[in-house]
Amino acid sequence: MKVAVLPGDGIGAEVTNQAVKALRAVGRRLGLAFETTEMPVGWSAIDECGQALPPFVREACRQHDAIFLGAVGLPDRDRTLPQEQRPERAALLALREGNFANLRPIWLPPCMAQPGHPAADMLIFRELNAGIYMGGDRGRRQTDGIVEAFDTMRYSVPEIERIAHLAFQAAMERRKQLCSIDKANILATSALWRETVETVSTQYPEVSVRHHLVDSAAPAMIQHPEQFDVLLTENLFGDILSDLGGVLAGSLGMLPTASIGGDVGLFEPAHGSAPDIMGRDIANPIAAILTMAMLLEYGLDLGPAAHAVRRGVLAVLEAGSRTVDIMADGCTQVGTTQFGDLVVEQIERS
Ligand code: NAD
Repeated sequence: MKVAVLPGDGIGAEVTNQAVKALRAVGRRLGLAFETTEMPVGWSAIDECGQALPPFVREACRQHDAIFLGAVGLPDRDRTLPQEQRPERAALLALREGNFANLRPIWLPPCMAQPGHPAADMLIFRELNAGIYMGGDRGRRQTDGIVEAFDTMRYSVPEIERIAHLAFQAAMERRKQLCSIDKANILATSALWRETVETVSTQYPEVSVRHHLVDSAAPAMIQHPEQFDVLLTENLFGDILSDLGGVLAGSLGMLPTASIGGDVGLFEPAHGSAPDIMGRDIANPIAAILTMAMLLEYGLDLGPAAHAVRRGVLAVLEAGSRTVDIMADGCTQVGTTQFGDLVVEQIERS
């Protein structure tokens, strides 16, 4: 199993190291062989080869089973480039290409819950290749001296079906509850979305399905996160809801992501390169380690290995070790590397 590893910039390399350590540990534990190829991306690639995603890296990534990316971009240097050449644009968009489902788990285990911060364990499926972001007419026009702008929202049945199947399959592996989020009382695309999800649901009779309007789903996610297991929604709603849900996890360092559905999945923590904390061994590696768990589950179809990694992270948190961003009373503060070592110990011990 071949994994392309692109550490990138800032804390990217620091957190990627911990994720790769977890991959190796689970490989040893379960007798699985992983071949990793480290390649430059972002400013490390611009400095070496003049481009944020050199063609040889892009081509090599296509020859791997999954891509792990740390983070790209350094704001002070980004500003010196035109938008389309900046690492976040030039590298990430190209690497995500072809993947139509963006997965955003929101996880706060009971051992981290506090008054006003309830435990959460939900998985958002955001459609990534259509909707108002992609594919429809957009632009500006002037009629009778009045300027107007327009973006078109469009969805086809196959575009909805393919992500719905992925979300139902994930629900089958979890608590078997799926909440589809739309605005079916207003939007034609949402009405089609709802009908199509209903039709797909007949193939998954064990999964209980409900439909939620996006405006009422947003506060419900924050007030009653325990009501949500798998959430399925279109591109724009998913963009907003996944950032909103991220608040529940308490730190950007807790949020993994995956973009799947194409030939090669891209797996990356939700956070950026965090230049304000780089090189200090204080970054939270949980997002990166849980991203590696997603790569194992969704990129390599190795569910048991993914669960072993997640159990390792949970055991370390339950034992009270925390990086500074999630520090709490009665816990022990540890650095990035030490947290990664503790996860490895737990995986080896399990
Ligand atoms: P950021 O996510 O890097 O940081 C925002 C804040 O969260 C900072 O205070 C940072 O210290 C903190 N933070 C982030 N990750 C953390 C972690 N693992 N542990 C503890 N604290 C953490 O966002 P930004 O500062 O807006 O962007 C910095 C650079 O990253 C920019 O160049 C931006 O373009 C890029 N970026 C890249 C990605 C990506 O590679 N997927 C995503 C977002 C931003």
